[in-house]
Amino acid sequence: MNPDQCPDLRVLSYGGGTQSAALALMSAAGLMPRLDAVVFADTEGELPETYAYAEYVQGHLDRAGIPFIRVSAGSLEAALLSPVRTTSNPTPPAHVLNPDGSAGKVLGYRCSYDFKRRVVTREVKRLANERGGRRGAWKRMLVEQWLGFSVDEIARCKETTECRCGHSRLRAQRGGGDGPGAVGGHRPGCDRCECAGFDPWQVNVWPLIKDFGLAFRRIDTIRWFADNGHPTPPRSACWFCPNSRNVRWASLKDQHPDLWDRACELDEHIRDGGAFNARGGAAFAGQMFLHSARIPLREADLRSNAERQIDAGQGTLFDEAALAVDCIGGTCFT
Ligand code: SF4
Ligand SMILES: [Zn+2]
Ligand SMILES: [Zn+2]
Repeated sequence: MNPDQCPDLRVLSYGGGTQSAALALMSAAGLMPRLDAVVFADTEGELPETYAYAEYVQGHLDRAGIPFIRVSAGSLEAALLSPVRTTSNPTPPAHVLNPDGSAGKVLGYRCSYDFKRRVVTREVKRLANERGGRRGAWKRMLVEQWLGFSVDEIARCKETTECRCGHSRLRAQRGGGDGPGAVGGHRPGCDRCECAGFDPWQVNVWPLIKDFGLAFRRIDTIRWFADNGHPTPPRSACWFCPNSRNVRWASLKDQHPDLWDRACELDEHIRDGGAFNARGGAAFAGQMFLHSARIPLREADLRSNAERQIDAGQGTLFDEAALAVDCIGGTCFT
């Protein structure tokens, strides 16, 4: 964003993980510009240690007078267990075994959009309206939204797509294409309103990457906690996320056997039916699995690649933990 522009509202989308926790604590300590609010979109599927760390962060924010706001679209697990098929099932990035035996993956998954990004955006608009004193005030505001990505995740950084007119730049692009004078795909004269061109009301900022002179890698962020007297936060993601690697599944089984059982039940539930299996009201043709090996979670070999190589007498090539996936601030769908 233009450094000369002072935002009307500065918010952090808190994902419960390492990077967004660092930003919240940095702002609370006065090491970064002051946030107006920290918004935590809760899928109700985070690990207990993630919730415990959120409370720790909230304590620091409370003492700094920065509101910590938890918003939720309900329990993602419960939504996935629902037997009712709708056109908007919150389908996670499951692994698919197609009828012809080929392997597939649910792409364009909606869980993080429905349960994270959408609820955060709704809350940010509510905060903007509150500040502006009326409904629709967000359309005239400049909101700076902080996202906790580090330099190693720079490819995941995406600009916001919603224009002040309320229409999406991407939608306009699909409808009208890029023509002469198009502004990032949102054509001057949005095809759905009188809008003159793409003008985002919200600007994404990645403070760990740029703007504040940090250029933090994930490892720098982890060091920051120790250097500043904070415990290291756990990685965030739903405990049943199909993007989990073996190291995470093994830890779930070991540390949280009750949640492991629930994950196995969810895995069995999604195989051939259930709302999880629906897209646009219709079932997927293939079978779905939580584990990337496309076998029942209960039967999966949860050793990491490194452990398998050691067991096979081959030494280690890499640490699979380094590849474990975070679901960060409602942007895990990117
Ligand atoms: S962690 Fe996984 S299951 Fe949870 S919202 Fe993100 S992508 Fe979906
Ligand atoms: Zn517009
Ligand atoms: Zn428009």
